[in-house]
Amino acid sequence: MRYVIIGSGVAGIAAIEALRSVDTAAEITLIGDDPYGFYSRPGLAYYLTGELHDKALFPRTADDLRKLNFRYVNQRVTRILRAEHTLEMGDQSAIMYDRLLIAVGAQALPLEVPGADLEGVLKLDHMADAKHILKHARRGRTAVVVGGGITALELVEGLRSRGMKVHYLLRGDRYWSNVLDEQESRIVERRLREEGVTLHHHAEVIEVIGRNGKVSEIRLLNGQTLKCDLVAYAIGIRPRVELAKQAGLAIDRGILVNEYLQTNDPDIFAAGDVAQAYDPLSGRSILDSLWTPARQQGYTAGLNMAGRKTAYLKAPPFNVTRLAGLTTTIIGTVGRGRDDDLVGIARGDSETWRQLPDSVIAQTGFDVNRLRLLVGEKTLLGALVMGDQKLSLPLEKIISGHVDITPIRERLLVPNAKIADIVVEFWAGQKAYLT
Ligand SMILES: Cc1cc2nc3c(=O)[nH]c(=O)nc-3n(C[C@H](O)[C@H](O)[C@H](O)COP(=O)(O)OP(=O)(O)OC[C@H]3O[C@@H](n4cnc5c(N)ncnc54)[C@H](O)[C@@H]3O)c2cc1C
Repeated sequence: MRYVIIGSGVAGIAAIEALRSVDTAAEITLIGDDPYGFYSRPGLAYYLTGELHDKALFPRTADDLRKLNFRYVNQRVTRILRAEHTLEMGDQSAIMYDRLLIAVGAQALPLEVPGADLEGVLKLDHMADAKHILKHARRGRTAVVVGGGITALELVEGLRSRGMKVHYLLRGDRYWSNVLDEQESRIVERRLREEGVTLHHHAEVIEVIGRNGKVSEIRLLNGQTLKCDLVAYAIGIRPRVELAKQAGLAIDRGILVNEYLQTNDPDIFAAGDVAQAYDPLSGRSILDSLWTPARQQGYTAGLNMAGRKTAYLKAPPFNVTRLAGLTTTIIGTVGRGRDDDLVGIARGDSETWRQLPDSVIAQTGFDVNRLRLLVGEKTLLGALVMGDQKLSLPLEKIISGHVDITPIRERLLVPNAKIADIVVEFWAGQKAYLT
């Protein structure tokens, strides 16, 4: 068997680990176009702030990778010829496969305004982008950040921590409105202001203006202009479906795969940010842009490429992130609707978060420590934990374990209930079964 994997991200590497765990003799080839290979993309945020050195971003050592015994081809795949089971590469060479995994991730949506091609208009997808941003970030100079979700905030904080004056432009009236509630958005915004960031609501960039090919100012829809030296944007991402589309594979928002991560061609699989995976539990095909699901999908795809029949059963999406310095855990379903600052899905995001079914909200904390629970008929459907994190793991277990919360449901919904205490007490009784 010749297994070929396109994409050296976490999904691709996990697939190799799975293949090797069941087939020690297989011929495995990994084709990737990123000169830095496999590294932590969420870690790029900490690299931007200077908290992590770039060397700390590699989850596997060279020795770990060598032990997996695969061939690495640093190329861009330009075409999949399904009938010939062949891939064409950027250098015109070709590689044959018996089973193929497409794990090419997603890319930042472009900022589509005049002047967006000027030097100093920047996005954050790859390590090379992060290095590019750092090259442009100058203490005392001015940056404008456009967009929403986690990555926009990472850009704001990264540039701020490099000593730039930062203007954060929001098209809507509050930050990340379809995942956070009003209270949470305001907490984040207040902390950004305390960090010295200037926020602009209802602000839409319509043009980037340059001097000598470099950014010098931006123009807003309301006619205002802002002088700046750099514009960074994060307005959403798009799964890289072009290869699959050209090959005639079924696509929707991502590459459509069944619960075995298999496309409509039985020899081709897809996993990670590029895959829109069928979830047999909900009956829906969902996009995630999260590290853990990408790893789990890659691993499951690897097993299935090797002939196993292992279904990918989606756990409630779980992300621990940092918003304006506040650790925030988002689990399950917490919001709905659209966010004017994002087109579709963003980095570190899940479509599941916004599919809020019938539920009531129990909440506590109006300062930095905040807990919001989405209470269903018998189970918790989602939770957002901001600040103090002692409940995030128990809540993840309660939500993913679909634990019957009938014994505490009424108490949680009493106005001003001490919901953290109620959950702690309930968890103490459940722990033995769930850990
Ligand atoms: C700045 C940032 C912040 C993030 N924050 C979080 C977070 O807080 N929490 C979280 O869970 N997730 C976060 N994520 C998302 C997470 O990193 C992704 O979900 C995960 O990396 C997806 O892995 P993947 O293997 O599917 O794709 P990727 O990691 O994107 O890897 C795909 C690889 O394929 C390569 N490729 C593309 N096309 C081709 C081609 N034609 N030929 C060869 N190679 C190709 C790409 O260059 C890339 O190296 C963040 C991502 C970024 C960039």
